[in-house]
Amino acid sequence: MTQGGSILDADAPVAKESEVDALKRRLHKHLRHSLGKGAVGSTALDWYMALALSTRDLMVETWMDSTHRAYANDAKRVYYLSMEFLVGRSLTANLLATGSLGLARQTLTDMGLDFDAILDQEPEAALGNGGLGRLAACLMESMTTLGIPAYGYGIYYDYGMFSQYIDGGQQVEMPERWLRHGNVWAFDRSDVTLPVRFYGRTEDALDVRNHKVRRWLDGEEVFAEAHDLLVAGHGCWTVNSIRLWSAQASREFDLRRFNQGDYINAVAEQSFSESLSHVLYPDDSTSMGKELRLKQEYFFVAASLADIVRRFRSIHDDFTKFPQKVAIQLNDTHPALAVPELMRILIDAHGIGWDEAWSICNGTFSYTNHTLLPEALETWPVGLIGHMLPRHMEIIYEINHHFLEGVRHRATQPDDTRVGRLSMIDEAGERRVRMSHLAFVASHRVNGVAALHTDLMRAGIFGDLHREFPDRIVNKTNGITPRRWLQAANRPLTALITRHLGDRFVAHLDDLRGLVPLAEDAAFREEFRAVKRTNKEALCRYVDARLGVELDPNSLFDVQVKRIHEYKRQLLNVMHVITLYNRIREGRADDQPPRTVLLAGKAAPGYHMAKLIIRLIHDVARVINADPLVGERLRLVFVPDYNVSVAERIMPAADLSEQISTAGTEASGTGNMKLALNGALTIGTRDGANVEIGEEVGEENIFFFGLTADKAEVLRTKGGHDPWQYYTGDPELHMVLDMIGQGAFSPAEPDRYRAIVDTLTRHGDYYLLLADYADYIACQERVGLAYRDDEAWSRKAILNVARMGRFSSDVTVSEYAREIWRVPVRDDPAGM
Ligand SMILES: *Cc1c(COP(=O)(O)O)cnc(C)c1O
Repeated sequence: MTQGGSILDADAPVAKESEVDALKRRLHKHLRHSLGKGAVGSTALDWYMALALSTRDLMVETWMDSTHRAYANDAKRVYYLSMEFLVGRSLTANLLATGSLGLARQTLTDMGLDFDAILDQEPEAALGNGGLGRLAACLMESMTTLGIPAYGYGIYYDYGMFSQYIDGGQQVEMPERWLRHGNVWAFDRSDVTLPVRFYGRTEDALDVRNHKVRRWLDGEEVFAEAHDLLVAGHGCWTVNSIRLWSAQASREFDLRRFNQGDYINAVAEQSFSESLSHVLYPDDSTSMGKELRLKQEYFFVAASLADIVRRFRSIHDDFTKFPQKVAIQLNDTHPALAVPELMRILIDAHGIGWDEAWSICNGTFSYTNHTLLPEALETWPVGLIGHMLPRHMEIIYEINHHFLEGVRHRATQPDDTRVGRLSMIDEAGERRVRMSHLAFVASHRVNGVAALHTDLMRAGIFGDLHREFPDRIVNKTNGITPRRWLQAANRPLTALITRHLGDRFVAHLDDLRGLVPLAEDAAFREEFRAVKRTNKEALCRYVDARLGVELDPNSLFDVQVKRIHEYKRQLLNVMHVITLYNRIREGRADDQPPRTVLLAGKAAPGYHMAKLIIRLIHDVARVINADPLVGERLRLVFVPDYNVSVAERIMPAADLSEQISTAGTEASGTGNMKLALNGALTIGTRDGANVEIGEEVGEENIFFFGLTADKAEVLRTKGGHDPWQYYTGDPELHMVLDMIGQGAFSPAEPDRYRAIVDTLTRHGDYYLLLADYADYIACQERVGLAYRDDEAWSRKAILNVARMGRFSSDVTVSEYAREIWRVPVRDDPAGM
């Protein structure tokens, strides 16, 4: 943490005494009147709450203005539907947005309080697993900064992402009651509760005009209650909200049960329906296919659409202008039931004809695909949807029928296998609905999240759909918000850049180009190194406090932080660590600098292999870190409970960013962008957005290695891939695998990691670790040598920072706004 007044401190005292006094009065007012506490005996948590409430006060007027302006102008709204919003903490972000971080630090320090300890009181809003949920949060922030009237819609989970503890080297999941002390940033809207129906049956009926209609009746109802989470844009010119729904038992349903005199069971059932929004599914990149998950998906989609339609209908008498006023972005297929739900509303509730309803849907929806991994693609059994949502299943069948009719009509010759591949129903085995086909066909635009990923979509699983709708797939490379990931997370670097370029870059990230000439300036490089050093020391203090491990800030900080998944290849990283360990012991790495390898990330609770990899990291760390022959030259550390707040500490301190997924598996990545923006060099495969990062920073400023996506695909599918040959043909690799497989790191249980080695050598090595091993090791050797040249390394790192402007989520959002949503954006978010 920075000290007040330091040259690297962007929050150096500047506030007037009168401002400080005014903030003190506001804090004391909230402490007494909102929290019922006196200054005596107040805790850091109390001061956090008081400061958060004071900051919220600065946002509320703007929020109301933003909302009223959108109403008054009948502006087109953007609705971002997402099962996940990985928001993280909000206080620092909102203090910055409202321009009051410096004042707050000064005031609280003045009051004898520990400002950083107070910031640390905020629980993390971890309503997401990883990249997908964090993207939703970054896009919401950028939409707000760009003045777009936007609403996020999602679920107000009682339990977000679990906390990760490490016990004897193994992951233990603990539930995290993040709402324990309430949530200052959300307004609970007990007045906004909407009914959501499940189960029941359908029947034909006649409406008031004697037209035949379909009705959905009986079943059970759950209420969705709204909670509005505030999101401030840069400069707080606009404030939007994310409306998150919690489940409440239906009152009517209760009454019925209570009247039957079954009080205890009625209350028990009440909590059963309320359990709908209890917990986030902690599976990243896997669809577990659980019934409760499908229920959650429909629950939030139904409430959100009812809300969206109500807002539109408050101004419009009919639906003709719906697509001109409403853009709905589906974040992955999780909200894809929005498609049959909107059709149901238009047709069953408003008597609109099929074709008109379909064209409204098509003009309204767009869909973002996040992964091509087969295990992640959502499909649901026809029987399950038919039972839970009988009317929706009928509508999905009809959508499919119309779509396939069109396909047959357009075809030059009959091709039933092609029709089968395109169908929304997978007929192989138990019949299942392909949610991606539903979302694709209903949307006017479908986007991938990096150029390579979008190309692979067109060529691979969406190939048939792409040929049917050649203009539909577009690319929208992911981005990150520079407010959180540079301005808030890296105060020392922000201060340095601001002294040289001013602070306009915070909302115009391309301004960082102004650093390019400074990369040639030795004095600037010196300052840049001092900043990195400050950040590394701060991380060292954190790791020491948390793990009791002392790290050397002079060593190369080699960082891989992300969910633990085989495709991300943390195991390949560990294999490099063991290789380097062996080389050091054999005196074959004397030209290499001391290295600290940091890993962090959570494994899905049911993902055995991922958990085993976490355990291996701990076992390897124990052996290496205790080996006197290695001394300070190599350290391996696993930082537990990776989340947004931990990411904010690690990103600024990294020298090297590990982005080493098997080419063709990581759709985009955003951790890669956070690290490069904070001055880490990337070692990576040509995968996801790494490719575009390489284009921007220049091939000479990034370390690429390994198979390309097309070569990896050929190797895996066309045969000719013999992992055993790599194993027997490379003595170093052989040694590493034997050490893992034969218990060098787990002497008490020599077979502990047998399964890991077998996966590689005997079961096909699906993610091609062995094929990429030699090139990775050689590349790491080049990294080490490059790091020893301070000046050259800093030059590269500065050029990385300077050329990351394209990966601001402001750019991403501007492209969505222009090419998908067709809404205007504020030209000058910095208000300059
Ligand atoms: C950015 C971020 C991610 C995504 O990281 P990738 O390296 O792109 O997988 C996951 N979790 C958290 C907490 C993040 O901040």
